[in-house]
Amino acid sequence: MMPQLIPGSEQVMGMLKKTGAFREGHFVYPSGQHTPHYFQMPLAFRYYDTARVLAVALSRKLRLEKEVSSALPKLSIISPSPGGIPVAFAVREALTADQIYWAEREEGKRMFRQYVNAGEVSPAVIVDDISRSGEAIADTVKLVREMGTKIIGCGAIVRFKGSPDHIEIPGEDDPVPILSLVEFDAKWYDDAAACAECKKGVPEEHVRF
Ligand SMILES: [Zn+2]
Repeated sequence: MMPQLIPGSEQVMGMLKKTGAFREGHFVYPSGQHTPHYFQMPLAFRYYDTARVLAVALSRKLRLEKEVSSALPKLSIISPSPGGIPVAFAVREALTADQIYWAEREEGKRMFRQYVNAGEVSPAVIVDDISRSGEAIADTVKLVREMGTKIIGCGAIVRFKGSPDHIEIPGEDDPVPILSLVEFDAKWYDDAAACAECKKGVPEEHVRF
């Protein structure tokens, strides 16, 4: 085992900062919530080198799962949303997995973007750029199970600490771990009155999502 091949949390955060994918400051969401940090993961994945380092690191973590390594290359990489597509493609390349799919939310329901027949989808690894609440991964697990496909791995580059680190798979005994390169301690304030940055008078920036 050569753990230095998987960059540590601090090193990954350094890459996210450098590419603008992670910013610190004072941000206000459309929901009215305030936060001192902001992730925009596609900014890290716009650079080939950064995308490759992050995806190879996540794929190494996934490979350490026996079920994943023994299924290769007959594996499908599935992104819960269009935002995870760059991660899914890069992880697919690193693992030389044979299939890729992604889901989208249409009228509140998550569904595959591609037309897929049940039985066509190889055992699945679900990957996303960031897992804030775990909801996107949980929705995708449901969708993949409806196709009759086995789920053997889950991963995100960043996982917020409050979100689940394991996911129950309907019809399976053992939950699947949600692997990540960074476990981030996210801070949220419900409104301006509760916000520490507002109290400090830090200029605020409104963000769309
Ligand atoms: Zn504030």
